[in-house]
This record gives sequence, structure tokens and C-alpha cells, in this order.
Amino acid sequence: KEKNALVEIIQPKETFADVGGLDEVKKKIEMNFILPLQKPEFFKAYGKKAGGSLLLYGPPGCGKTFIAKAIAGEINANFLHIELQAILSMYIGQSEHNLHDVFEKARESKPCVLFIDELDALGGSRHNMRFHHERTLVNQLLVELDGLDSHNDGIYIIGATNTPWYLDPALKRPGRLNQMIFIPPPSEKEREIILNLKIKDKPQDSLDMKKIASKTNYFSGADLDQLVHDSVEAALERSLESGELQPITNMDILKVLKERKPTTLEWFST
Ligand code: ATP
Repeated sequence: KEKNALVEIIQPKETFADVGGLDEVKKKIEMNFILPLQKPEFFKAYGKKAGGSLLLYGPPGCGKTFIAKAIAGEINANFLHIELQAILSMYIGQSEHNLHDVFEKARESKPCVLFIDELDALGGSRHNMRFHHERTLVNQLLVELDGLDSHNDGIYIIGATNTPWYLDPALKRPGRLNQMIFIPPPSEKEREIILNLKIKDKPQDSLDMKKIASKTNYFSGADLDQLVHDSVEAALERSLESGELQPITNMDILKVLKERKPTTLEWFST
């Protein structure tokens, strides 16, 4: 694991099996990113090219970063995570320079998934622009995207945002981040799958995840992760008090749940 101020490089162990639900999204990503690597002859025959870039959008905590990581895990690629806020600099020209450095790093780390979070920080339609030269940063990003010998060169670009309406339209033109994929909050069935994924391998007693799933409307994957985390804490505390291993029960989860509100609801009302 390597880290500097601008970009973090990891080799993720997560795969699609760790991502609960999002079947349509996984299928789309497989068709664009994964199968062209495994069966290039098929794609070539139909004149279809591999890779390119994707833009994931939706409420916070629903798996944009997680699925991007899992793509890297699936194709054994490096994962470079940049937050645009970290790239932005007050000094004229420095932000562009930083962005160029990140793409250089990506070229050195092939094959890799370059995940660009908070893409909206570049948004041309924002009123509260803090950096007057954001426009030139958008242009720099376009130059970098065009400069990638886009297909099959081993760099997969995935952009993400919670606020797609702030995105600079230039980024969405054909050949750029024009493949937009919505990452929604999990459905009831998906919530059950995610809860089961998060709690597997932990001591538990006849949990009714169907019921828990039905009571967690609008919970994000991150909310569900936190719910399980806090229920584990409760069971662990009971174990330490009693001196015996106490499994996680429905009561534990329902008790934590009482104090929780879904975090994605706000996103839909903005
Ligand atoms: P943000 O917009 O705030 O960056 P995000 O959409 O990128 O949010 P993630 O960071 O991917 O959200 O998700 C946060 C955590 O929630 C993950 O680390 C994971 O533990 C859990 N999570 C979210 N979605 C899923 C899912 N579909 N399956 C399993 N875990 C999930």
C-alpha cells in the first residue's frame, strides 16, 4: 500500500461477491470492463471495444466506491483513489499539475482502476465556486481523458458524484464519462443480502433478516454496515459482562435500529 497526498494505491481483495445486490450494474460493468479482457475475440468480431470510462452517481453510502474497488479486485488491477478536493489548490496552475501527476501515476500503475470521487467539485454550474480556475481544471481533465489511448490501455476511469446536476456538461460528452450509471439505495431483497453478507461468520442466533430488511427502507449499504457493526458491539458487551460468548440476536439489531434513520432519504428530497 502506497500513499501520498494526492492518491492512494491499493490492490483490493474485494470482488463482486462482496457487493450485495446491484445485479444490473454488475452486468453492465462486466460487459464493458471485464468480459472484453477475458473474451477479446468475441468483442472484436462485433466491433465492440473494451474499457473506457464510467460515471457512477447516486446517494452517499450505496456502494459507488465499493463497486469500483471490486472491479479492480475482479480484474487483478491496482486501485487508485483520488478525491478531487485534495487536488484543488489555491495556486494558479497547481491543481492542473496535481491532476496530471495523478494520471502519470495511473500510467505507471497499469492495469489500474482510477477512481475519481467528488467529480462535482469541478462543476461548472456551481454558484459557490471557491476556485476561480476550476474551468481550466475541467479542461485539464478532458485533456487527460482524451490523452489516454482510451481502449485496452489498461486504465479504467470511474468517476463518482452524489450531485450529478452539478457536473460540467463537457464531461458527459461522447468519449468521455458519458456512460452514467445510477447506484440506488438497496431494495428490500438487496438489504437482506447485504445484511447477511455483513453478519456472516459472526456468532448469531436465528436472525430474521427478512424482517430487519423490511424495517430498513431507504437505508444505504453504509447504514446497514453500521447497523451490523453496532449490533455486534452490543452482543460483545453482553458476552464480556456474562463471561460467555453471546450470539447476536434480533433484539440486538432491533434495539440499535430504533435509534437509526436512513441517510439516503435526504438525497431524494434535494
Ligand atoms: P459516497 O458517495 O459517500 O462516497 P459511496 O456510494 O462511495 O458513498 P461506499 O463508500 O461504496 O459508498 O460504501 C460505504 C460502505 O458501505 C462500504 O465500504 C460497504 O461496507 C458498504 N456498502 C455500500 N453498498 C454496499 C453493497 N451494495 N454491498 C455491500 N456493502 C455495501
